[in-house]
Amino acid sequence: MNYVFEPAPQASIEVFGADERLPVRRILCVGRNYAAHAREMGKDPDRDPPFFFTKPADAVVDAGVTIPYPPETENFHFEAELITVIGKGGRNIAEADSLDHVWGYAIGNDLTRRDLQLVAREQGRPWDWGKSFDRSAVIGPVHPVDKVGHLASGSIKLTVNGVVKQDADIAELIWSVPEVISIISHSIELRPGDVIMTGTPAGVGPLVDGDTCVISIEGLGEIETKIGAKL
Ligand code: MN
Repeated sequence: MNYVFEPAPQASIEVFGADERLPVRRILCVGRNYAAHAREMGKDPDRDPPFFFTKPADAVVDAGVTIPYPPETENFHFEAELITVIGKGGRNIAEADSLDHVWGYAIGNDLTRRDLQLVAREQGRPWDWGKSFDRSAVIGPVHPVDKVGHLASGSIKLTVNGVVKQDADIAELIWSVPEVISIISHSIELRPGDVIMTGTPAGVGPLVDGDTCVISIEGLGEIETKIGAKL
């Protein structure tokens, strides 16, 4: 195949303890998947069907990379999240079979221009400019299932400059990882390299130039992100 210009590089994430990287196909994100976070966003945490938004694959950034403060926001937020990486695709996946499709798990930070997201929400417009901007998906090394097993519970914690901001347990997910995979696969076909950001606990808040944000998930270690000067 000849292209009229060089295709963009394949987006990818690190694999823990390996030289190979995992190619990213799409980034699928679950909205309001912890009750206390739904409440802090002014919504009732009920078992309405989950909703989703996406980020472009090339929004992905490795842990340890300094993220410049993004343009057009005065309220740039962190969101600690458990990341589930799909290794085997499928459609209409039964909940009982969902975990067979998981390649591994990682720690992520769903970086958000909260002011743009909330204006879009109020006006009934898409969230993209609040959620899907450049370098908006920090994802640390993926830990393969054959090394860490499946994560149904365990501490998820985020600090900014050493101060704890989010402190929860992934057992508190309103929609569990197997449920989310099954539900997504009934709407779109999942394929290897699809990455699911499973939602953030309560305690979201702002980051500014010079901040160091550390997220830990029990069993997956921790990742660190520094925020740099405004672009
Ligand atoms: Mn999120």
